[in-house]
Amino acid sequence: MTSQKPKSHSTPHRPSQGNRDFRNRNKRGGNSSGAQKNIPRGAPQPVIGNATAQPAIILKAGREKSLLRRHPWIFSGAVERVDGAPLSGATLAVRDAAGNFLAWAAYNASSQITARVWSWREDELIDAEFFHRRIADALEMRNALRFPLAQAGERGDETTLNNGMRLIHAESDGLPGLVVDRYGDTLVIQIGSAGAERWRDVIADILQELFIPACIYERSDSDSRAREGLETRNGVLRGTLPDSVEVVEHGLRFKVDVAAGQKTGFYLDQRDNRALTQTLAAGRDVLNCFCYTGGFSLYALRGGAQSVLSIDASGDALHIAAENMARNGLDSARAEWLEADVFQALRKLRDQGRTFDFIILDPPKFAPTAAFAEKAARGYKDINLLGFKLLRPGGLLATYSCSGGISAELFQKIVAGAALDAGVDAQVVHHLHAGADHPVLLSFPEGEYLKGLVLRVKAGN
Ligand code: SAH
Repeated sequence: MTSQKPKSHSTPHRPSQGNRDFRNRNKRGGNSSGAQKNIPRGAPQPVIGNATAQPAIILKAGREKSLLRRHPWIFSGAVERVDGAPLSGATLAVRDAAGNFLAWAAYNASSQITARVWSWREDELIDAEFFHRRIADALEMRNALRFPLAQAGERGDETTLNNGMRLIHAESDGLPGLVVDRYGDTLVIQIGSAGAERWRDVIADILQELFIPACIYERSDSDSRAREGLETRNGVLRGTLPDSVEVVEHGLRFKVDVAAGQKTGFYLDQRDNRALTQTLAAGRDVLNCFCYTGGFSLYALRGGAQSVLSIDASGDALHIAAENMARNGLDSARAEWLEADVFQALRKLRDQGRTFDFIILDPPKFAPTAAFAEKAARGYKDINLLGFKLLRPGGLLATYSCSGGISAELFQKIVAGAALDAGVDAQVVHHLHAGADHPVLLSFPEGEYLKGLVLRVKAGN
């Protein structure tokens, strides 16, 4: 699928590979994307080195260790100096204090992450063909692993139908700052770094060539863009946006509001976990907190839940959720939708003496960075404690965290503390994470942002 020219070789003195300046754009951002994590605000800006030298990032002595382990971020605190007065988005050589080549990386003067690595190979040119290779690789990986999309409609079974997937998962697909989600023949692209911004049009052309979508829509309005000093963008990049965009997941149909919905419009990362929910729901009274457009609720209804109470603070999301229920011909008599703050609603349900057999907690990112971990931990403990109290003996709690600043281990500890305070004994029956179309680069643990547990509360403690 890729067409490669012979590689051009660089010398240790090769100049920077790009020069467009994005530093002066306005700095507003919107929803969070999860692309940038664990970044202390207010870290020092890189020291500007010799302006007439060849552009390069020179690290402080001993600060090359994480790069040698192939972690793709260069924090400002590790940088000794930046030579050559490069512009944000430029591709620069990164060198250790002795001048040895470490990587080619995209520079950003405005970010706490001074650079993000494109390539570890000194002889690799960062050009349109580089992006073609990386995007084609991401596609090949998903095809090779027979991701559900490849099985669409196999065996004539409606429930195997899927038309959505994450095509490009940023750092973990070797493309820092770039997320691309597919909903049928609409692609939604989210750019969260100055480096990816520099190649935006090239990337759009490659996506157009490889996927031939009806539309490429840009949702570059995440918080991480503000941190990178990039303007907010929301609009059609190629083609025409269809009147209605729909994602089909295991045969269930969901309307996707790509222009105004959260993230790129839908939470593809929970696909497998939603399918698991269906298998656990039969005959149960289900409470789905933070339901968005009804994902877990619709699966629970299809799985034969006795009743499903779904709560979200967004009226727009609930409106789409009700539409989605009708779209799938599911029994609305078993469903109740509540627009409310979950923290308050759980207390109200407790005070009313309501109980459930199966509770799902899938809150938004409480800790976008490690700096928020403590406050986030209190939030997770609160809702999980209330969740345990609302469960009947033998009931199930499916609880998630999509905070990059909270590790799976810490999350389990928080949930254990909540169970203890609620006075229940519980067993972990599933450890969960995002689906295979959200791979995690081994050298980039930050990529493992979504973690979940299904717990069974023991009867008769
Ligand atoms: N489970 C969903 C995704 C949840 S995203 C799915 O499978 O698609 C998190 C949701 O939490 C969003 O819909 C957001 O509107 C909602 N939310 C955020 N803070 C909230 C709060 N305090 N109370 C209720 N809902 C909240």
